[in-house]
Amino acid sequence: MLSKDLEGPLLSLSGNGDWTKTVFIGNWRKAPDMLEVLEPATGESLVCVGAAVPASIAVACEAAQAAQPAWASEEPAARAHVLNRVADLLQEHRAEIARWIVRETGSIEPKAQYEIGASIDEARHAAALVYHSKGEVLHSSAPDALSTARRIPIGTVGVITPWNVPLALAFRSLAPAIAVGNAAILKPDPHTPVSGGIIVAKLFEAAGLPSGVLSVLPGGADVGAALVEHPGIQMITFTGSTAVGRKVGEVAGRQLKRVALELGGNSPMIILDDVDLTAAASCGAFGSFNHQGQVCMATGRHIVLKSVAEEYAAILAQKAAHLPVGNPATDQVALGPIINARQLQKIASIVEDSVAAGAKLLAGGKANGPFYPPTVLMDVKPGMPAFDQEIFGPVAPIIVAEDEDHAVELANASAYGLAAAVQTGNMGRGMRLGQRLKSGMVHINDQTIADFPQVPMGGVGVSGNLSRFGAVNNVEEFTTWQWMTMRENPAPYPF
Ligand code: NAD
Repeated sequence: MLSKDLEGPLLSLSGNGDWTKTVFIGNWRKAPDMLEVLEPATGESLVCVGAAVPASIAVACEAAQAAQPAWASEEPAARAHVLNRVADLLQEHRAEIARWIVRETGSIEPKAQYEIGASIDEARHAAALVYHSKGEVLHSSAPDALSTARRIPIGTVGVITPWNVPLALAFRSLAPAIAVGNAAILKPDPHTPVSGGIIVAKLFEAAGLPSGVLSVLPGGADVGAALVEHPGIQMITFTGSTAVGRKVGEVAGRQLKRVALELGGNSPMIILDDVDLTAAASCGAFGSFNHQGQVCMATGRHIVLKSVAEEYAAILAQKAAHLPVGNPATDQVALGPIINARQLQKIASIVEDSVAAGAKLLAGGKANGPFYPPTVLMDVKPGMPAFDQEIFGPVAPIIVAEDEDHAVELANASAYGLAAAVQTGNMGRGMRLGQRLKSGMVHINDQTIADFPQVPMGGVGVSGNLSRFGAVNNVEEFTTWQWMTMRENPAPYPF
């Protein structure tokens, strides 16, 4: 069952099997289960796809173990070629891929296009990693011995992703993991098995990745848990909520696996008293309302110095009231639907409970079907849910700060520490203040959402386990050391 308008050339990238009834384990194999995807904007069935079960992990691990050594031994140019070909295919099939992202995730077209662009960048950056220096020549303890250390692939990497930015977050882990010689098993979120999984499998298959190096297993939490548990996986990268990340970290720790956890956020933006308030509110609106606020780095708290707080709030509320909300597949809108009813209810409760605790509603605040309008809350304080929790919805809580020190104290009064921003007319002032923030990423005169392949992306506190994606960090994340010594003659010993 597939909506007619979604049939397109992407689906004939490689004619190997019916992807709606199969799962990709080296090749398209009969699926042991099915998954129905509901379109967030309409609540209607979008597609049924083949899904994995926990037992599928063992099959995928076997395929990965068989394929990985040869893939790791491939010439760097051959590995780079596959990744560059994937990037080309992403570009060639942009329109169809964007359509899937819009329909499955409820995002507007520009966000879908951003995701595809980010995935292309990740693939090209990963292609360049294959040429990165592999190791070092070390000082040797014996004059006639050569002592070297080289980076070697970890083996098989399990990649678990969420639904909000499904394609780009898959590429952020998969592309570097595969580039440096690992096999990978991707478990996309059940809301987005196509844009977060099947499309990825199709692209790598069409690009000529050897069979078994990548498996894609759409499924729920049970399949994810089996991936973390399975001894055939040497590393897990998990992008998702802090609650699930803790569980993943516990199991991976017990199994002595490397684990990279990229988790939730409640990112502050400090607005000082020397700014162009309209420009600052534009940053704030994008930070809080982009993709309906369903972004880990979304601006979760607007901390504004007292002297400019009322004016900033009025401009932000006016912006919020004018942003159109609706079905991004059929209408020109700035915000689409919330992913599901449970998340919609959570957003509504956070807003209602914060208003009941004394926050003032300046815009939005009332759901309409699956849509939640851009919402501005004034006079939010620590202890209110809109301050304390990751909302993951289009809500901009404004907190009034007495002075700069108070603003820093408020910004740091969160267990999360993913991203932060400072708005100021004085870059030096912004830099000094930014250095005091407990955050993995800080932006002066920008909003909080930003991620590129060449930067070390990640958080502190409960936003992660200090792993970082991006830049040459990717070589370190997805490889380990092998120390090797070599001597011309056997080493002499006293016995
Ligand atoms: P989630 O944690 O509920 O699910 C994420 C993935 O984990 C899904 O694929 C899910 O099926 C799987 N999963 C669930 N239970 C599991 C288990 N016990 N073992 C293994 N896998 C399991 O997250 P979500 O609600 O889908 O996504 C939103 C969250 O993700 C937010 O908190 C957001 O901040 C975070 N996020 C973080 C980043 C980042 O880079 N830091 C990026 C995007 C989203």
